[in-house]
Amino acid sequence: MLTNDQLAQWDRENFFHPSTHLAQHARGETATRVIRTAKGCHIEDRDGNKLLDAFAGLYCVNVGYGRQEIAEAIADQARELAYYHAYVGHGTEASITLSKMILDRAPAGMSKVYFGQSGSDANETNVKLVWYYNNILGRPEKKRIISRWRGYHGSGLVTGSLTGLEGFHKKFDLPLSQVIHTEAPYYHRRPETDMTEAQFTAHLVAELEALIEREGADTIAAFIGEPVLGTGGIVPPPEGYWPAVQEVLDKHDILLIADEVVTGFGRLGTMFGSDHYGIKPDLITIAKGLTSAYAPLSGSIVGDKMWKVLEQGTDENGPIGHGWTYSAHPIGAAAGVANLKLLDELELVQNAGEVGAYLNAALRDALGGHKNVSEIRGEGMLAAIEFDADAETRRPFDPDQKIGVQITTALAADGVIGRAMPQGDILGFAPPFCLSRAEADEIATKTKRAVESVL
Ligand code: PLP
Repeated sequence: MLTNDQLAQWDRENFFHPSTHLAQHARGETATRVIRTAKGCHIEDRDGNKLLDAFAGLYCVNVGYGRQEIAEAIADQARELAYYHAYVGHGTEASITLSKMILDRAPAGMSKVYFGQSGSDANETNVKLVWYYNNILGRPEKKRIISRWRGYHGSGLVTGSLTGLEGFHKKFDLPLSQVIHTEAPYYHRRPETDMTEAQFTAHLVAELEALIEREGADTIAAFIGEPVLGTGGIVPPPEGYWPAVQEVLDKHDILLIADEVVTGFGRLGTMFGSDHYGIKPDLITIAKGLTSAYAPLSGSIVGDKMWKVLEQGTDENGPIGHGWTYSAHPIGAAAGVANLKLLDELELVQNAGEVGAYLNAALRDALGGHKNVSEIRGEGMLAAIEFDADAETRRPFDPDQKIGVQITTALAADGVIGRAMPQGDILGFAPPFCLSRAEADEIATKTKRAVESVL
């Protein structure tokens, strides 16, 4: 068997890790962590260290690790038919069944599912579909996409542009000119301290309208947003935000893409974030929770209004020129079917809502009132703690102090994995939906200990 030292050496010599400080890793300043196995909410590395994974990988292993039902579905599918493509009417029992299961669970008014591999490619598909739609309708100028600062929509060319986080743009020649950003619905950083949530919403909507008027509604095709900002800091929207945004978009005939890569399939305690906030999207992006990451699979759920135009487009132009080799991959589809069945059978969406609320309350009990904890926020099985140098005035720490990273590192050393969110000093949690109350208590107790060791 290979030693850990051997693996660490090969890792540094050969492996290009995503979202990693490459030079530090090459110098051995960040450790190679070889994860060996996992069960429920716990992962175990090759040294036998067991950690409570309170971020479900990258908020994706929603049903928890080690589910034999999904492993068996994948193995059965691989033995029977590992691959066939989905072009020109081809499918498998798994892919056709999964498309029906998704639409049975989707918000009203959705029509079809286009399958991809990752959240990023599903959002690339969405942008192409929006452009195609406006070309078919004879309005080739209506093409730009509005996204929010702090939104996360992927790492591709268009999706990296949609993503409103500086690190994904700097030095990559992004964002592309078709993308324009508007203010983040981030109440904690509201422009005036005495603004209520409703006033902040009115401010955001006024900004959005001003942007649309400045750029011209006839140049803007769509607005994309996550129901709850995820990677941008786990930020639920301020009161009344989504209905007010929807009204502005409807008024200007701008499509709405709900990026539900994180919120889809139960993370907020409802099947979709769109249901949770009363959003009526034209397109929904799904990925992570579709298979709980047991296999890569994503999807674009297309609403009725767009579907009719797409059909008309192919009558005019022939087959739609958009396809992936791995679209509706049978192994991913088999994993998706087994995963959605488990969500229902074990009532995991309900558990996400109930235990998620318990976790948020436990974090507030443990850390509410701490001089550097300026906000504890969450929704369903999502929670975040924001740290400031002065909680009362919301004066941030000097970014060079990397307070969020220090706390996350101390917490991991104590056996719990959270995530230092990429912008600001924010510790995020997004555990698997099977989290127990005892595990939620452990997260809260150990987080308090980690915070007190750093601050
Ligand atoms: N959209 C959202 C909301 C996400 O959180 C992510 C990934 O975290 C993506 C899109 C991109 O998904 P992927 O990493 O599978 O490409």
